[in-house]
Amino acid sequence: MILPPATLGMLGGGQLGRFFVAAAHEMGYKVWVLDPDAHSPAGLIADRHLVAAYDDFAALDEFAAGCAAVTTEFENVPAGTLDYLAKFLPVHPSAAAVAVCQNRIAEKTFLADNGLPRGPVAIVRSADDLHDADASLFPAVLKVARFGYDGKGQARVADRDEALHAFHQMGGEACVLEKMLRLDCEVSVVLARDEAGAVRVFPPVENRHRHGILDVSIAPARVDAGLAARAASLAERIAERLGYVGTLAVEFFVCDGELYVNEMAPRPHNSGHHTLDACLTSQYEQQVRALCGLPLGEPRQHSLAVMVNLLGELWYPNGAAAGPAHEPDWSVLHAVPGLKLHLYGKHHARPGRKMGHFTVLGRDVAEVLESALAARASIGIRDEP
Ligand code: ADP
Ligand code: MG
Repeated sequence: MILPPATLGMLGGGQLGRFFVAAAHEMGYKVWVLDPDAHSPAGLIADRHLVAAYDDFAALDEFAAGCAAVTTEFENVPAGTLDYLAKFLPVHPSAAAVAVCQNRIAEKTFLADNGLPRGPVAIVRSADDLHDADASLFPAVLKVARFGYDGKGQARVADRDEALHAFHQMGGEACVLEKMLRLDCEVSVVLARDEAGAVRVFPPVENRHRHGILDVSIAPARVDAGLAARAASLAERIAERLGYVGTLAVEFFVCDGELYVNEMAPRPHNSGHHTLDACLTSQYEQQVRALCGLPLGEPRQHSLAVMVNLLGELWYPNGAAAGPAHEPDWSVLHAVPGLKLHLYGKHHARPGRKMGHFTVLGRDVAEVLESALAARASIGIRDEP
């Protein structure tokens, strides 16, 4: 067991890393963050921020020498970096588990190999693969295999010609072609697993996206108990098959009452933010516990929660082209009963960039949802969720 005042290492400095730093500090640990961005949200509050590239081996040596164990908040950390660090100290999740989650082809293959439900898909490494793709896949979504996030690196394509065009536009990189599914809804499951294989699962969450980016999460998901239990057990099976240690998220599509795994994230997840305020243990505290070999915490949710993401466009009420950024009037949100506001301290607001979120807590899901959507509108988010 790694106990305070040990120093923990975090690869990646985004908001997920920042919440990890806060949870670790609360528990008495020190944290070093390695991230190339001098203004990274987690780096700003860490005990030490190594401003370095993930493949800067001199910086990795220093990081390994100063930390007792390392984790990540970012699936695109090169697997080679995790493998290198693992020679010197415990690294969770493992390079092998991260490698599966960071490449959509590896991910789809993993699902098929393990008998886990996934939507219809074709692997696309060349234009020939698109010519050979089954016609029943269209209309479809073409997604780059690596480095896509928040709907980036994706194109919706009506037919084979559009897919070929999009494939060339994306530079001919390896892709997956997914049949466009008609979704009843989307749910996600966040869980933590320790080295001995013990698992604690947070209740499934219902997610609404806008322009490919998570907008609103409703926790727990308004689905029947059978579906919720099946989602939890599928996520658990995935963690087991990956030999996963840490906090893991699994995104699902629900179609005609059936669950299909969309993707996995080898880290805490945006749809688990509410665990900070609504659960006995947060997904970030679980990450600390799993990394340090502590017993996992109780994931029980004590309040209903609706989480709303705050994106950079909120700083530009007249459009990003129409002048400088304006700080939104946060007092509007602080006045809402049961609302918890979290801002990430990001240096620069950009449209589509996740700048913060709020969670509204309560006892009745209809009331909490109404209050969260009213708060969302009152701060100036105009689009329908
Ligand atoms: P990201 O890495 O950007 O989260 P996802 O594959 O999860 O990428 O896609 C983002 C969102 O786009 C999904 O949550 C879903 O709302 C929508 N989407 C993606 N793929 C499909 C699909 N095959 N059918 C229907 N909707 C999809
Ligand atoms: Mg996703």
